[in-house]
Amino acid sequence: MHVMAGVLLDPVGRVLLAQRPPGKHLAGMWEFPGGKLEPHETPAAGLARELHEELDIQVEPAHAAPLIQVPWSYGEHALLLDAWRVGRWRGSPRSMEGQALQWLRLQDVPESLLAPADREILRALLAAVAGQ
Ligand code: C5P
Repeated sequence: MHVMAGVLLDPVGRVLLAQRPPGKHLAGMWEFPGGKLEPHETPAAGLARELHEELDIQVEPAHAAPLIQVPWSYGEHALLLDAWRVGRWRGSPRSMEGQALQWLRLQDVPESLLAPADREILRALLAAVAGQ
């Protein structure tokens, strides 16, 4: 399965994280918000749809390619997780599906809070920001 995740970095260096709800795979772990690409959907369109459904915002990716693509396997289900930096968004992110949200300073995000595949995103992001 192909999954899109959005990296929203605000002007003071915080990223938005969402908590996986009870009953879902990896419940209670935090992730960069997003979800599964639908058939025939472009990655940018899938990212925009997911962030609209989950956060009620309008987004456009900041770059033409994802920051990182993480191939990951959780037992029997394998996924390719694309993390997109979102440069600008319209609206204020709010929880549309009952999921908890939090803004954390990028440097303060504990890896252990994150779903395992998302830890790779965090590392790539820290490296990208350090190199800017
Ligand atoms: O959210 P949903 O259950 O549709 O996500 C599909 C799969 O992608 C799940 O296994 C979920 O754990 C994984 N995922 C992830 N990191 C994200 C978003 C989803 O590992 N940021």
